[in-house]
Amino acid sequence: MGTRRRHLVVSATDGTLRRPVELAAFGLIPTERIAELEPVSKRYALALPPALVRLIDPADPEDPIARQFLPDSNELENTPGEIADPIGDNVYSPVEAIVHRYPDRVLLKLLATCPVYCRFCFRRETVGQGKGVLSSEALDRALAYIAAHSDIWEVILTGGDPLALSPRRLEAVARRLAGVAHVKILRIHTRMPVAVPERIDAALIAALQASGKSVYVALHANHPRELTQAARMACARFIDAGIPMLGQTVLLRGVNDNAETLAALMRAFVETRIKPYYLHHPDLAPGTAHFRLSIEEGQTLAAALLGRISGLCQPTYVLDIPGGFGKTPIGRNRVRLGKADTGEADSHEIEDWRGIVHAYPPA
Ligand SMILES: *Cc1c(COP(=O)(O)O)cnc(C)c1O
Ligand code: SF4
Repeated sequence: MGTRRRHLVVSATDGTLRRPVELAAFGLIPTERIAELEPVSKRYALALPPALVRLIDPADPEDPIARQFLPDSNELENTPGEIADPIGDNVYSPVEAIVHRYPDRVLLKLLATCPVYCRFCFRRETVGQGKGVLSSEALDRALAYIAAHSDIWEVILTGGDPLALSPRRLEAVARRLAGVAHVKILRIHTRMPVAVPERIDAALIAALQASGKSVYVALHANHPRELTQAARMACARFIDAGIPMLGQTVLLRGVNDNAETLAALMRAFVETRIKPYYLHHPDLAPGTAHFRLSIEEGQTLAAALLGRISGLCQPTYVLDIPGGFGKTPIGRNRVRLGKADTGEADSHEIEDWRGIVHAYPPA
């Protein structure tokens, strides 16, 4: 297709593709599938910014980037056990935009939009569903809640993607958090360095630092190809400014469900000075069965990383327990009570990274 045609179908000025007809114009889906995918993109928001358009190989029917971001008719299939609020945000929301599940930290959801919509998103029933930025009254109430609860040591900005807010808006929030002495840490969960790397600029970084808190940024990325040169440079801007970065990855069938891809991703994080933090078991979000794998498969993959790649590259494999019970590590337990060869009744059996079991005394 010619550039002229491309120009005509792109609706948003930033070049983000938001409709199946635009995907087809870029050769990302066949024209025959537009009608089939139209209802999917109406049900669950679609957005594909230029950096991710460029990453997709349209010739590869199993492209792991396409699989994460291009709509699929499987998304309209609800399977038993799937829930609209899989991690139980609503159960622990004392005021709008706050989720206070753990004593020392809260989520603050400033907006419900993202620069790119993951087809497996755990908040897909709220994110990208037409609700925009938090109203200033709701923001006042959320910040008042944080100020009134002195146990809150950490505020985690999430959404939606908080870095989709303008630096001006982010700075306004950061300045107000600066006045809350018991909050020491400001953590941001984002996909922006991968989705729109040029957005990570000096103004945005200065806005976060206006909080005066120790700022951490957690990057959501699921395939090593997402860490392009531009994405790595965007991360370097955070890190060089003194903002440490963490990596979080969702285990996804057809995207990263093999040890080689996971190892390459974790190494790409560490090469970018990002410490892998969590490897998430996929949540029970509606219409995402085609992405899920079993906990046993996940344990095998997580175990395959142990020992084989650097300790710096090891994420913790976790499940967010449905119903709002929080995250818990679900890696294979490598300690068992046993009798092994010490002759003691209650010794431990410890499995090393090769799978060999060793005895360890009870105390
Ligand atoms: C995931 C989550 C956090 C962050 O948990 P960490 O284990 O500290 O990364 C905090 N609050 C809520 C409600 C969460 O869902
Ligand atoms: S970046 Fe996070 S919140 Fe946004 S669509 Fe992806 S999973 Fe959902």
